[in-house]
Amino acid sequence: MKPFSFVKATNTRSAIDAVLKDNARFIAGGTNLLDLMKNGVMQPDKLVDINSLPWKDITVANGTMHIGALALNSTVAADKQVKELHPLLSQALLAGASQQLRNMATVGGNMMQRTRCSYFYDTAMPCNKRNPGSGCGAIGGFNRMHAIFGASDQCIAVHPSDMCVALTALDATVHISGPKGERKMPFGDFHRLPGNTPEKDNNLDKGELITGVDIPASPFTKNVYYLKVRDRASYAFALVSVAAALVIENNIIKDARLAMGGVAHKPWRLTAAEKALIGKTPEEATFRAAANVAMQSAKAYEYNAFKLQMAPNSIVTALLKAAAV
Ligand code: SF4
Repeated sequence: MKPFSFVKATNTRSAIDAVLKDNARFIAGGTNLLDLMKNGVMQPDKLVDINSLPWKDITVANGTMHIGALALNSTVAADKQVKELHPLLSQALLAGASQQLRNMATVGGNMMQRTRCSYFYDTAMPCNKRNPGSGCGAIGGFNRMHAIFGASDQCIAVHPSDMCVALTALDATVHISGPKGERKMPFGDFHRLPGNTPEKDNNLDKGELITGVDIPASPFTKNVYYLKVRDRASYAFALVSVAAALVIENNIIKDARLAMGGVAHKPWRLTAAEKALIGKTPEEATFRAAANVAMQSAKAYEYNAFKLQMAPNSIVTALLKAAAV
């Protein structure tokens, strides 16, 4: 690993200043960044430890839940208010990684984790995300884990988070601090599609860091289900995941949220499919029709064509399980 310096930030301003000046990165749990540094994929000269900043609390005010960026994934998943008000988020967090990793990983770090594309981690291979302009090893390579939505001819990687899929479905808002002050961003705008700049995973500017996430009051407290399809029963990234949430009254779907993971460079919200569900009866034919709507722009590569069947089947299964709760 390339040598680096290490400083502990004592307040937000000093953290931002420390990152602005150098080739530096913020570090909290380090569950992804340290792997990337050991592999030489990321080579910061300095790490700025933000763990002492005061962003660990989970609070609810006027129906809006605020989760600090440094709240641990395991803490959020087990939090009584999260389980009661946003059970979809708790389910998604528990589907991610292992208990040991969830005990270290933070909410902000979960959002900042980078793709698990194997070519990105292999510094002997071309990768436009790691080394812009070098090419993409996955296009024409072994692309079994890769995107079926929103990819470009520069990058077909997927975002690996489960938590972010639920937060996309729940219309969360990201709180950001940076050199120009504070701002908020809809969660769905935080991560990017690859386009011609796959090296950019998100829409943060240099020196900006996540301070927390807001989740608005939600009617999705009962009929929710997070489905993760993966190669192993635990500690594996999603081939396909689905966050499904319904409001059902008198056997009619009054409201719906759907988002997918493992299929795009960002958590993939299925708004057209959500609209197709509203006003219908919660039955398999309804869910299959919505899944067909969701798949309209899907495109597969040589080794991930199975996702064209797995994705709609997963949508139907997740909705059936959500409706049956
Ligand atoms: Fe790199 Fe993206 Fe291609 Fe993977 S899919 S090799 S991350 S450019």
